[in-house]
Parts: sequence; structure tokens; C-alpha cells
Amino acid sequence: MITIGVLAVQGDFAEHAHALRLAGASPREIRSPVHLDGLDGLILPGGESTTFSRLMRLYGLTPAIIAAAKNGLPIWGTCAGLIALAQEITGDNPPILGLMDIAVDRNAYGRQLDSFEADIAIPALGVLPFHAIFIRAPKIVRAGRSVELLASLPDGTPVAVRQGALLCTSFHPELTSDTRFHRYFLTLAQERQTRRNAAAV
Ligand code: GLN
Repeated sequence: MITIGVLAVQGDFAEHAHALRLAGASPREIRSPVHLDGLDGLILPGGESTTFSRLMRLYGLTPAIIAAAKNGLPIWGTCAGLIALAQEITGDNPPILGLMDIAVDRNAYGRQLDSFEADIAIPALGVLPFHAIFIRAPKIVRAGRSVELLASLPDGTPVAVRQGALLCTSFHPELTSDTRFHRYFLTLAQERQTRRNAAAV
């Protein structure tokens, strides 16, 4: 069984845990560095990124998650979780984990588009479009050369990106009943588990 941690300090971690169970994985709520031991992957959910930042620091999770990522742990950030993973947050905000080579603008879709839904093509998930829910979503305004584009809006704005074992979506797959994105993340976690098991023998 694949074990996926879900940062559970604030935000919609329960919805991610539910989606993970539907996708066949075992979720684990993460509130302390010891909870990271033996994980195959980690999800940073939607929520409020400044709250994440404060609580992750308070619980000693910031350096522990950075170390785990450097050690190859697959990490997927949705919305506020994406902000936490970005190397650059526009404005006067320091990076939180600073792991993925992207720059994000918080709440950049503006008032009218504060929250919206769109059916988008995500070729990595198959031919059927994915119903993407955006809630006060961050906008990816720059992506480095090693960042792979998985999906974008019709105007070209990237909304799902990957860099090695790091995955970011500015929308919320955990709020739909479509588990394809969670299953996609589980393939990264599975690869990591296979590598770790091979190293252990
Ligand atoms: N706007 C939030 C932030 O800046 C993110 C919103 C979300 O996660 N749905 O942290």
C-alpha cells in the first residue's frame, strides 16, 4: 500500500485524504516532522498560504519538508500548496518552501475571476477533459526551463506543472469526484517506493 502524507495544519486536507482513499492509497495527516517518516509522497492542500507558512514553521515542518524533497519525496501542492512550493512569490512575500522553479502571483485572477471552473485538457490523464475548480487561485507567472507544462488555460496560463517529483496545480482536483490527478500522483509515489525497496535489498 502506498502511504501519502497530507499536510494537516489548515485547509482542505480531509478532501485530499478522501480522494486518496478512493484512488487506493493510505493517507496520513502530517502535523510534525516525525509524521514524514516512511512516506511515499506528500500533498500540500488548498487553504491559506500565509497560515501554512506560519504553522509549518511553528511545528518545525519547513526544514523537514525541504530535506524530504531534496531526498526525492514526491510532493504535490494544490492552490495554497502550490504557493508553498514556489521559489518566488510576487510582491513582498518571501518563499515558503522555495522548491519549484516557478513564480506565482497570489490571488492574481482578480475579483471577477476570483473563483471559476473550467474543463481543461490534461493529456497526461487521458483524452477526457478535467473539470478544474479554481478558488482564489494563484497564477503561475513564470516557469523555469526544467518545469514541464501539464495543462494550461485557453489564454496560455499554466495551471498544472511538474518538475521531477514535484507537482503543482492551481486548481483543486480534491473537490471533484474525478480521482485521475490523485492516481497520476500515485504513479510518482509508486516509482519512489519501488526505488526505495530496491535500495533496501
Ligand atoms: N488565496 C489563497 C492563498 O493565497 C489560496 C486559495 C486556495 O488554496 N484555494 O493562500
